[in-house]
Amino acid sequence: MGNVYNWQLGRQMEYPYEEAHPERQFAFVFNINRCIGCQTCTMACKSTWTFSRGQEHMWWNNVETKPYGGYPHFWDQKILMLLQKANPDGQIWNARQRNESAPYGVFEGKTVFEAVSARTDQEIDTPSDIPQENSGRVLGYLPADEDWDAPNLYEDTARRPSEQYQQWGGEGASLPAHNIWFFHLQRICNHCTYPACLAACPRQAIYKRPEDGVVLIDQSRCRGYRKCVEACPYKKSIYRGTTRTSEKCVACFPRLEGKDAVVTPDGVPIETRCMSACVGKIRMQGLVKIGKDGQWAKDPNNPIYYMVKEEKIALPLYPQFGTEPNGFYIPPRWVPISYLNQMFGPGAEAAIDAYVCPSRKMLGLLQLFRVTRTIIFRFKLIEGQKTGEFEVMLPSGKKKTLEIFNDTIIGYDARDREIVQLTIEEPVFERSKEHYNSI
Ligand code: SF4
Ligand code: SF4
Repeated sequence: MGNVYNWQLGRQMEYPYEEAHPERQFAFVFNINRCIGCQTCTMACKSTWTFSRGQEHMWWNNVETKPYGGYPHFWDQKILMLLQKANPDGQIWNARQRNESAPYGVFEGKTVFEAVSARTDQEIDTPSDIPQENSGRVLGYLPADEDWDAPNLYEDTARRPSEQYQQWGGEGASLPAHNIWFFHLQRICNHCTYPACLAACPRQAIYKRPEDGVVLIDQSRCRGYRKCVEACPYKKSIYRGTTRTSEKCVACFPRLEGKDAVVTPDGVPIETRCMSACVGKIRMQGLVKIGKDGQWAKDPNNPIYYMVKEEKIALPLYPQFGTEPNGFYIPPRWVPISYLNQMFGPGAEAAIDAYVCPSRKMLGLLQLFRVTRTIIFRFKLIEGQKTGEFEVMLPSGKKKTLEIFNDTIIGYDARDREIVQLTIEEPVFERSKEHYNSI
């Protein structure tokens, strides 16, 4: 058992292998606030990678409705319950100990790697409806076949009103948190820094690419033991009966490598199918530099680095699992903070503050979501005139003034060529009378 540093937990943690890091890491930010649940991303992925026999139940990208939905069914509730059983009431954060190498504080509970080494099966009194299995290296469970049916169960189903709300007959949808709420959670493999799937594989069939941190399953080595399916806390490694192997998101690596001649004629990296197709403009993908120490190298002009490390507006999904996922989310502003703290760690309130009343640079960067499918490696803001100011309400109920400037924002590709430029205020063009109806 190695000892590795997990910056999302703010501490060292146990992991079956020693530290090993790629030169760059595939990472992405999803802005939950903007998602309309259209599933265009889901179908873009399905029609590219998982349309064959034996893959009918396989959705590498899915969008589920929280709090009740999940694919496979109740995946997060089940792993949270296993962790709670393994470490009763110990899954807590010490958010006071925040610093640069522990931006969310220190997680004092047990990860999926630590919980399994700290107990025997008998010590966990698992509810009978959760299969209790583990690879011996990672705490997890193997979903039942029917858990993969109906991938969008509970779609658009809101959380029931609270008892207080029913008594008061109060507003269902007034900020800072709505009484009746739901949100769409977009999910792909997180290409984790410390993948649980990789840790659990007895065949060493799973590897992390040194050039971009993408986690792949070598189909020629896989024997279909399903240890990765059992171990991945996000349940993003999926078994295929027709080939008797497991499969997972491949991060559209030909696009990432700039080798898809149809879409990347000049060879620069472009974003995955699910990102490029996003109708709600909620997704941005990037590659972040990894330093010699294995941590993200300081690069505040990289959009993903800026959102995650500088603004802390985008947070990892269930960081307490311990895999150091490389997918980050801007949390939904209308959902109770206690729920968001469980899902994204203790940074949720500050992240919503940063979103509701964004800095000048952040407001500019938000405009770059989905204006190009080429990966933006650097962005720059050129300051413009002030055009207005507004009062906004923060999650704490406090009010703050948001100033808006007509700044210009520019994005650059892997070769540092300008690929997009736009202003905060959209220009208005008035048609002449003769061309009112022209297209
Ligand atoms: S999300 Fe799951 S399948 Fe993807 S790298 Fe992490 S542990 Fe592996
Ligand atoms: S395409 Fe975008 S807006 Fe539509 S469901 Fe997917 S993430 Fe949400």
